[in-house]
Amino acid sequence: MPIRVLSDALINQIAAGEVVERPASVVKELVENSLDAGARAVRVELEQGGKRLIRVTDDGSGMAPGELALALSRHATSKISSLEDLESVGTLGFRGEALPSMASVARMTLVSRPAEAEHAWQVVVRDGQVADPEPAAGDAGTRVELRDLFYNVPARRKFLRTDRTEFGHADELLRRMALGAFGVAFELRHNGRVVRALPPAVTVEERQKRIAALCGEEFLAHVLRVDAEAGHLRLHGWVAEPRYNRAQADRQFFFVNRRMIRDRVVAHAVRQAFRDVLYHGRHPAFVLFLDMPPSGLDVNVHPQKHEVRFRDQRAVHDFLYSTLHRGLAESGVGAGALRPGSGLEQNAGQSPERMAQQPYIPVGRPAGAGGAGIAEQAAAYARLVTAGGNVVPIAAAESETFPPLGFALAQLHGVYILAQNAHGLVLVDMHAAHERITYERLKAGLEQDGIKSQALLVPVSVHVSGREADLAEQHAARLAELGVEVDRAGPESLLVRRVPTLLQDADMTALLSDLLADLAAGDGSRRLESEMDEVLSGMACHGSVRANRQLTVAEMNALLRDMERTERIAQCNHGRPTWVQLDMQALDRLFLRGR
Ligand code: ADP
Ligand code: MG
Repeated sequence: MPIRVLSDALINQIAAGEVVERPASVVKELVENSLDAGARAVRVELEQGGKRLIRVTDDGSGMAPGELALALSRHATSKISSLEDLESVGTLGFRGEALPSMASVARMTLVSRPAEAEHAWQVVVRDGQVADPEPAAGDAGTRVELRDLFYNVPARRKFLRTDRTEFGHADELLRRMALGAFGVAFELRHNGRVVRALPPAVTVEERQKRIAALCGEEFLAHVLRVDAEAGHLRLHGWVAEPRYNRAQADRQFFFVNRRMIRDRVVAHAVRQAFRDVLYHGRHPAFVLFLDMPPSGLDVNVHPQKHEVRFRDQRAVHDFLYSTLHRGLAESGVGAGALRPGSGLEQNAGQSPERMAQQPYIPVGRPAGAGGAGIAEQAAAYARLVTAGGNVVPIAAAESETFPPLGFALAQLHGVYILAQNAHGLVLVDMHAAHERITYERLKAGLEQDGIKSQALLVPVSVHVSGREADLAEQHAARLAELGVEVDRAGPESLLVRRVPTLLQDADMTALLSDLLADLAAGDGSRRLESEMDEVLSGMACHGSVRANRQLTVAEMNALLRDMERTERIAQCNHGRPTWVQLDMQALDRLFLRGR
C-alpha cells in the first residue's frame, strides 16, 4: 500500500483511542474543561452508564460563537501558545484534542454562551461534520452533550461494560475531581436521578462535610491535618492516622497543582513514611495536595494526563517522605495536639462530638526529648507517693506540670495499665506499648552501632525442627549481625550463646523460631533494611512484656515515661493502638453528669 495522509476524521479517531477509553474518561475531559473555564458549578448527567448520553453543564466563561468551531478543531486550545507555556502548564488541559477526539466517536452538541452575550450558540457535529453555529437557548456557561459513544466504532463499543460498571467508573472519577476542587459545586445524575449533590465547600466545616461525603465519616474521624512547606514545595491536606487503614489503596487521593495523579515517586514516599506503623499489607488513606511551581513538573507525559514527571524527583520524594514520616512519628503521645514546626496538626474547627469520638485529645508535648521536665515530675511524684500513699491529688493548677500520660494507678487483669493524667483516665495496652518502645530502641541501636548483645552466662538450649536448625546454621552470619549467636547442638536443637541486650529476658524458643522464619522468608529480593525492620519487629514482639505479667507501680510509671519519649508510640509495630484517653468529659457523658 502506498503511503498516504490520513483524513482528519481518522486522525481524530486515532487520537480518541488514547483519550476516550470509556464514559468516565469523557467525563474527566469535560469536567476538566469546565474547571479550566473557571466554573463554580458543574453538572454531569449520564444515561445508561454514559453509553447513551453524557452531558456536562457548567457556568464557566463560555465561548464566543466564533470559537465554537475552533474548539472542535484539532490542536486548537486557548491554554498554551508556546513551548514555554507547555513547560509550565497551569491548566488541566493543554493539548487541544479532547473535544475533536470525542466528537469523532460520538454525536456531539456544544452549546455555549459567554456571560456578556445575549444568547447562546450551538454547534452540532455529526459523523465528523461540524455544522455552522446557530443561536440556541442556554445560560451563561457551556454545555457539552455526547450521545451514543462509539456508535461508529463497534470494536470499542464492545469493550464497554454494564451500565452499572460504567456509571461506577464515572462516579469514582467525579468523586476524585470533587476532592480536588472544593470551591466548585458538583451534581451527578444517572438516568434522570440525582445521585450526588455536593455544594461548594469553602469553610472548614464545609470541606469536612465534603470529605465525609466522599471518603466516609470514619476517615474524617481519624484524620490528621497536614500543612508543610519547604522551598517551593507545599504539602497540605489530610492523612488518616495509621489505625485507620484500608485493605485496598482506595482512599488515596493525590493532587499536584490541582491535578489528580498516580505517581510512583509519590507512592513510594508515602509507603516509606507509613512503613511499620501499619498492619502488614494494609494501605494508608489520605487526601493530599502538593503545590509547586508548574515549571518543576512535566505534565505532558501521559495520554490521559494521569501521570506527571517531576523534574527533581529526589527533592519531591524526600519532602513528602520527611513531612509524613516526621508527622507520624510525632503523632505519638501528643497526637492531635497542635504543634508548631510539625507537619501534622489536628483537623481544626471540628464539632465537640467529633472531638469526643477521637481517640486522642490534645495533650501537651512531652517536655523535650529525654525530658528533664518529666524526670523532675517523676521525682516529685515519687516523693508524693512515699510521703503518703498511692493517691495522687491533681489540683487544677498543678495539672499542667503532669506528664502527658500521667501516673499509673493500677493494672487491670494483667493487660492494661490505668493511669491518671491532667485530662482524665489513660488506658495503656502494656504489651503493645512496650513492643513499640523495644522496636524503636532496636532500630535506633541498629542505626547507631549495630545491636548490642550480651553473652549468656549459661547458654540456653532450644529445641527446634531440623529445618530450623539448618536455617540457623545457614544464616549464622546474619543472626550475629542481629546480636544472636547460636550453635548447632544436635539434629533438632540449638544452643543460644549470645542475645541482644534488650532481649535477654525474652522467650528464646519463640524468638528464635520467629527469627528463623523471617530470615527464611527473606528470599533476598527484599531490601536488607526492611528485612531487618521486620526481624526487629518480630524480636520486639517476643521481647516485650507479655500480658499477665504483674508490674509494680514504679515499673508502670517507667513504661509511661518511656512511651512519652518514643516515636510512633500511638501504634505498636503491627498497627494496633497502644493507648487511649478517656477524658473527664467522656467519663461525665458515660455517667450522664451535668446533663
Ligand atoms: P484543551 O482543554 O486541551 O485546550 P479541549 O479540546 O478540551 O482542549 O478544548 C479546546 C478548547 O475549547 C479549550 O482550550 C477551551 O478554550 C475551549 N473549551 C472547551 N470546553 C470549554 C468549557 N467548558 N468552557 C469554556 N471553554 C471551553
Ligand atoms: Mg480539555
